[in-house]
Parts: sequence; C-alpha cells; structure tokens
Amino acid sequence: MISKRLGPLSPYKTETTPSRIKLSSNELAIDFPEEVRRRIAEEVSKIPFNRYPDPEARALREAIAQRFSIKEENILLGNGSDELIYYLSIGIGEFDRGIFYPTPTFSMYGISAQVLGRDRVEVPLREDFDIDITESLKVLREKRPSLAYFAYPNNPTGNCFSEDKIRRIREEGIFIVVDEAYYHYSGKTFLDEALRRDDTVVLRTLSKIGMAGLRVGFMVGKEEIVRELSKIRLPFNITFPSQVIATLMLTEFYHILEAEIKKVVEERQRVYEELLKLEGIKPYPSEANFILFKSLAMPAELLHKRMVEEGVLVRNFSYMIPQCLRVSIGKPEENDAFLEAIHKVLKNS
Ligand SMILES: *Cc1c(COP(=O)(O)O)cnc(C)c1O
Repeated sequence: MISKRLGPLSPYKTETTPSRIKLSSNELAIDFPEEVRRRIAEEVSKIPFNRYPDPEARALREAIAQRFSIKEENILLGNGSDELIYYLSIGIGEFDRGIFYPTPTFSMYGISAQVLGRDRVEVPLREDFDIDITESLKVLREKRPSLAYFAYPNNPTGNCFSEDKIRRIREEGIFIVVDEAYYHYSGKTFLDEALRRDDTVVLRTLSKIGMAGLRVGFMVGKEEIVRELSKIRLPFNITFPSQVIATLMLTEFYHILEAEIKKVVEERQRVYEELLKLEGIKPYPSEANFILFKSLAMPAELLHKRMVEEGVLVRNFSYMIPQCLRVSIGKPEENDAFLEAIHKVLKNS
C-alpha cells in the first residue's frame, strides 16, 4: 500500500508553457560559446559510458574546492541541492521532531518533511519578508523542531533574512541549514560558521550559475558532518557527464560564467528601477537573480496570461503570495523584452 504520507503531496511542477523568452526558473541566460561546446563534446566523447563514474567524484570535488577556497573533505555532493535537502532532512534529528522554516520559501523543505512524516513547523515572514523572531521563538519552544532551513537569499522573495535573527534561532539549540543557492548574486555567506560549527551547514548549487542541466549541488560543513551524511548518499549520485562537464566549466571556463553573473547583478538594478517607474507594479528589492513584484492594477493570473501572449514567461506566485509574480533576470535584450511586454500589457488593461 502507498503511504498515507504521500496523499497530500503532488509531483513537483514547474512552468513549462512554451515561450519565446523564458524568465521563469532563475537560470543563467548564457549560451555557451562554440569553443566551449567543442571542448565539452571532446571531453564527453572520452567517457567510458559502460562504466560507473567515480563514486566520490574526486575531480569535481577538487574543482569545487579550488574554485570556492574550501577543502574537499568539507564538501558533500548532491544531484542538485534538492537531493541534499532530502539527505539533511533524513540525517539530521529524529523523525519525531519537526523541521522549521519561515514561509513563503522554497518548496523542497516542506516536501522533504512531508515525505518523511516529519512535522512542518512554519512561521510566516513579516510584511518586509524578514523573519518574525518573536513568533519564531515562541513556536520553537512549543514544537521543539530539530532542523531549520533558511534560503539565503530567500526564494521567491529575493531578500536575505537578518543574520542575527538566524543566529538567534540557532541559539535555541537547533541545527541550521543555510541554503545559499543564490550566493553568487548576494555575496553573503555563512560559510565560515559552517566550517567551524557542529550545528550549521551551507548549501550551494551550480544550477543558478549556468549549469542547471548538470544537476550538481553541494553542501559545505565540518568533516564529521560530511562523513556521517555520506552514509546516506546514493552511490554514483553525480552522473559521469555531469562530473566531466562541471569540472571543465569550473576550471577552464569559469571566467565566462563569472562575467555573465556580474552582468546579471547590473541588470537586476536596471530592471528593478524600471519596474519602480511602472504604475500598477510594486517590485521588491532583491539580492538574487530574480525580482518578485506585485501586480496592483490587475489580477496576477491575468497579467501572467497576457505576458505569455506577448511571448514572455514569468512565474506566477500568487498561490503563495497574493498578487505576486517573479521574473528571472536574463540577458539585457530579454529584460528589455520583458519590460516592453509588461508596459504594453498594463497600458492595454
Ligand atoms: C533553485 C533552488 C534550489 C535547487 O537547486 P538545485 O541545485 O537545482 O537542486 C535550492 N534552494 C533554493 C532556495 C533554490 O531557489
């Protein structure tokens, strides 16, 4: 019999409406240059496809360690950080103790808790999308969860929570996971604490910096934590092609991605300022590669639909935050197309 735990769940859905311009999944909008594609093809053609890949993915871990100035023994690799969220929800604390996270946030924290039958301890964010510390402390003392997730910056709101509030919550004796999927766009990190402390780890991913298709995420934490969680890691969770391509991108071609990331940060400011000028739209400040905005003049549902008709796909988050949509920052010309489309849709409403 299928577990009762699965009843309330539904398979992960993403925005798949075909569209000329796709600004719905926070991907990096880079087309790898031809020379990069040729090098990738060359390296991939050397893979012995009949063989299992290196279970430890040593070359990739070394490349990550070098690139981000950490040590290999502090890195646990996942098939996307999504997989690591499962590992953490399985491996940290007992199942009779809950998982804490502020909402709205990334859906995988709640899904992993539900799949495992762990209590979901949710506390709504304040109006300004920061943590409500009074309410959080109250709920922590009542429900005694043993694991907490903080998306930092938060998805879909785009802001970083106050660091001191995250630390204050940790003082209650809970293990914290700081999910830094958008680190490259915020520059803010808990890495030092993750390397020093027994109650803190950091999650990172290659997905938001141009390699979403490879499914590579990593956790950074003390060697003992990495060693213990490695016991539940599925063998060969990083495919051979992903190991080869990610290693290549992080070594030979990282400068290309870096330049693109820098452009996104500049474009984020421009798009934010342009949205501010629009009557009927309220954009929220962002430290990530996307901007959340509220539709004040027309239903978010309708705005989303009209934008699709204009060939621009954004993500409708009104089911989570009333009247809100999220746009990923793309190439300058894609952002222009987005701004033109929203201008037109609002004018004709
Ligand atoms: C996109 C995202 C992830 C998922 O990253 P993958 O490495 O692609 O699984 C994790 N956390 C947050 C907050 C995200 O927005």
